This record gives sequence, structure tokens and C-alpha cells, in this order.
Amino acid sequence: MTENQKWMQRDLSVVWHPCTQMKDHETYPLVPIKRGEGVWLYDFDDNKYLDGISSWWVNVFGHANPKINQAVKDQLDQLEHVIMAGFTHEPMIRLSEELVSITRDGLDYCFYADNGSSCIESALKMSMHYWRNVGEPTKNKFVTFTNSYHGETVGAMSVGDAPLYTQSYKSMLFDTFKVTAPDLYEKAEDETEEAYTLKRFAEMEALIHDHHHEIAAVIIEPLVQCAGGMRMHSPLYLTKLRALCDQYNVHIILDEIAVGFGRTGTMFAHEQADMVPDFLCLSKALTGGYLPMSVCMTSKKVYDAFYREYHPESVFLHSHSYTGNALACSAALATLSIFREDDVINNNQKLIQAFAKYTAPLKDHPNVAQVRQTGMITAIEVVKDKATRTPFSWESRIGLKMFDYAMKHGLLIRPLGGIVYFNTPYIVTEEQIKWMVNIATDAIDYALTQV
Ligand SMILES: *Cc1c(COP(=O)(O)O)cnc(C)c1O
Repeated sequence: MTENQKWMQRDLSVVWHPCTQMKDHETYPLVPIKRGEGVWLYDFDDNKYLDGISSWWVNVFGHANPKINQAVKDQLDQLEHVIMAGFTHEPMIRLSEELVSITRDGLDYCFYADNGSSCIESALKMSMHYWRNVGEPTKNKFVTFTNSYHGETVGAMSVGDAPLYTQSYKSMLFDTFKVTAPDLYEKAEDETEEAYTLKRFAEMEALIHDHHHEIAAVIIEPLVQCAGGMRMHSPLYLTKLRALCDQYNVHIILDEIAVGFGRTGTMFAHEQADMVPDFLCLSKALTGGYLPMSVCMTSKKVYDAFYREYHPESVFLHSHSYTGNALACSAALATLSIFREDDVINNNQKLIQAFAKYTAPLKDHPNVAQVRQTGMITAIEVVKDKATRTPFSWESRIGLKMFDYAMKHGLLIRPLGGIVYFNTPYIVTEEQIKWMVNIATDAIDYALTQV
């Protein structure tokens, strides 16, 4: 028995893994990771894997990054954690100052939680509670996009629409208004991006016009619906939405949990739409992929609606045990310092071009319906039939087959059904991009022979 197999056996007798049919591990081995360094993960048998998905989109500057390691080690000897109600600490104050300074005016306060889903919960609660506090309690519903994903707690699932994650729990979810996402994959070939986006926007306009008295907020993953298959839309929609929501007194919650911190090419996705949300949800890359933490940023206007003499109905009594964890804040501060010192957003342009260049030939592949890219996220939509864009059914397990092939060749990708995507740490090299695209292409071709 190899070392990998020993650890796998021990794991499988006691651990239930997330987002996994555990029975699949009878066929596909679980991969015990011993250590990480830069873009590479190493297993117990000394095989290495390039982390093409940043370990679920969290890692931006590589594993065991020396600067982040040092920051967390230094903090560890000072303070690991303290209750955040009534107390504060230096890393959280510094981090909040920095987040406020790198975001636009109107994102003035930071409210911390310990994962993305709870950040969404706090934004939803804050928005509807704001309307209660200002005397408009009927504004308590939310507008969401089709195919959206905001996490897997009950509130976050309620405002989500990717059936894969919610269908089994429908009866426990609250109702929302659903608007068709302006997904550019659905655009007709002879339609301009602008005309298509405006057509989709008309649906939002009509809904807000008719129902704004009942609506607290519109919640959107700006520019890329990630878990929904890396489906992309035009920033024009968000620009238009800001004007519409201002007109009708409706909040905008932007879920940048996956797309924040450079993923879309700019530090934050909404910068490309030249607008400011009422709530900005951040997590994943916030700590460089080190520690679980999230932050919901909001305006002074929202903050002020809660700032008054104590009353149980107007105070925001939301909390998580690990809110504002000091180690996580120190990792986040080190992550932000790398962005600054290494001019990361500008330097990523070269990588963005390399992804475009090396994935371009896949557009002609007989089973590829689309190659799309927004910044550092590139997706390849593999379909059963290119002319009709018929996708593979879930029974094909095509994603798992592509994953398995790529892993055997040293690349970690985790396709969403037939959608292969790259979402790498920003320290990847152009050579590695070229290599990854080659392996992924082979993985697609291999999987096509197995379905
Ligand atoms: C990952 C994700 C979440 C949920 O974050 P968790 O930390 O996994 O709870 C919410 N929204 C988006 C867009 C995400 O990608």
C-alpha cells in the first residue's frame, strides 16, 4: 500500500467530504495532500499537481507564500483571536482602513463574518433590516438572477438559483423574484452585446418598476456567475442597474466573494461598471486562501440607520464566533500588501493575454461551444453537439473524467459538468499556462472517448 493509499483509507473511514458523492471514491482516488509550495500541491507519494483552480478560487499568491506565512507567524505570537463584540485589535483595524481606502466612496464600513455564505446572510439581513429601521418594512424581498450562486446556507441558497445545489432543499427556502441573467452565452450571434444586455435589462426594469415597494435588494455576482458555470455578462448591466435602483430606492448587493481581488482583471469587478453597490461581499481571496474570513462592506448611510439608542428591534444582532479573527486579518493584510507592492493588477495583464492566446485554438474544437474569458477566469464550454450546443447530461460524469485525466498528468482542474475553467493563482507563469491548456485539451479529448 502506498502512503497515499494509507491516508486515503484512514480518511474514508472517518471523513465526509464537501460537495462529493463519497461512493465515487471507490473509483476515483481521494488525493491526500502533504504540502504546498507556490502553484504546486504535493501528495504523500511525491506526485505534484499544478493548482489550476486556486484550491476553490481562494489562493491568489500560491501555497506557503513566504510573506503571508511570516505575517501569520508574527501574529500568532501576539494574539490569535478575541471576541469581537466590545473588543477590537490592530490587524482588524488596519485591514478595515485598507479595505475602505481601496474601494470606492460609499463602501465605508466593514462587517466581518467567517465564510462567504455567512457574509451573504449578513448582507441580506442588513438590507431588509435597514428598510425596517427607516420605516419601510414592506421592502423585504430580494431579486436574484437565474443561474446564480451565493453559498449554501439556507438564506444564501434561497437567493441562489443553480438547481444542482438547491433542488433537494426547495421546501426550506424563501421566495425571491427571479430575473433572467444577462448571460452572454445566450446571446444570438447576430445580436450586439449591448442590444442583448439592454433586452435582458428590460426585464429587471419592469420588475423593479412594478414591485419596488416589496423589494429590499437585488443581489448579483458581478461579471461572472462562477459556480453557475463561469457564465459572463456585460458591465453595462450593472451600470444601468445602479441608476434604476437609485431611482426606485432598492439596494444592490454585489457578491464579489469569487470575483473580488483581481479575478476579473480589475481589483473589484464593479469597477468595470463604474458603480458602487450598497453592500459588497468579499471572502475567498481576501486572506490569500489561508484562513476562512469574509467581510460585508456597506455605506455610512446604511450604518447610520442602525446607529441609535439601544433597542432590540433596531440593533443588528448578527454575529459569528470567529468574526474578525486576528490570524485571518493578518493573512489578509499580507495579501493586500502583495497586491500593492508587486503591482499585481497590472502585471496580471500579461497572464490574461497568455490565457487568451493559448485557449484560442480550442474555439475550433468540434465539441467546444465557447471559449470565454473575463480577466483571470477562462472557461471552455464542452458540449455533446456543437451546432445545437447540447450539453452533456449529468449522467455522463464528463467533468469527473476530465478531472481524473488531468490529475494523472499533474494538473488540478475541477470542471463544472462540461465546463472546464482556469482560475489560477496569480503567480502562474506563461509557460505553465501553455502547459495547462495542453493538458486540459488532452483531458477533453480523452473524456470524449469515455462518454
Ligand atoms: C464560494 C461562494 C460563496 C460562498 O462562500 P463560502 O465561503 O463557500 O460559504 C458565495 N458566493 C459566491 C459567488 C461564491 O463563489
